[in-house]
Amino acid sequence: MISQKMADAINDHVKTEFESAYLYLAMSAYLEAKNLKGMAHWLKEQFKEEMEHADRFMKYLYERGARVVLGGIAKPAEEFGAPLDMFKAVLKHELYVTGRIHKLMDLAIEEKDYASQSMLTWFIDEQVEEEASAENIINKLEFLGGSNTSIYLLDQELGQR
Ligand code: MG
Repeated sequence: MISQKMADAINDHVKTEFESAYLYLAMSAYLEAKNLKGMAHWLKEQFKEEMEHADRFMKYLYERGARVVLGGIAKPAEEFGAPLDMFKAVLKHELYVTGRIHKLMDLAIEEKDYASQSMLTWFIDEQVEEEASAENIINKLEFLGGSNTSIYLLDQELGQR
């Protein structure tokens, strides 16, 4: 049986995954408006992944016999600046999510909740990938510079995802 404290903390985190999804969907819409279709596609895929993350946490709560309670999510920003600034915002957000998942793990360890620890291990590994993929794009943008040609090339590349 999962503790109420652990279930509440995971419920609160479900909201974070939906917030991530909503942020990336807002970024995708922003990029569509800028006609950067490849980057918009990349962010749309990211949106879908975050929805899957929320679903994975919710399924875990169902399996443990806990009630899922959805919280409210805030309106995301409308403007995200140049692609480099936007991907830096993606990385910053992922670092925030990583910190929150690590706090969930701290609680699971404190409570000797081995099932939650096992479930959270998947997310800890996933966050390593999420941070690496955002860093990879930032590195490319910094290496190429902010010219129209480099933005065009990266847009083509990210459209392949
Ligand atoms: Mg996520």
